[in-house]
Amino acid sequence: MGENTCPTCQRPLCWKDGGYYCEHCQHPVRKRAFCPDCEQALEKLNACGAASYFCPHCNELKSKSRARICFEAG
Ligand SMILES: [Zn+2]
Ligand SMILES: [Zn+2]
Repeated sequence: MGENTCPTCQRPLCWKDGGYYCEHCQHPVRKRAFCPDCEQALEKLNACGAASYFCPHCNELKSKSRARICFEAG
């Protein structure tokens, strides 16, 4: 597993109100996944309790381990 760190201050994020939050910067941080093949944003699917990602551009599922995860202040 990769580290969940704040894009602004690089400190570890905590989980708050259903999302990531940086206590140092005091802002919420969104986790976004991008396609490893075409760089488009992936849609997160929750099937059978396991998260997977779908790329609308490639029109296929992408494995979670290949998805490029970015954290965005927001
Ligand atoms: Zn921060
Ligand atoms: Zn794609």
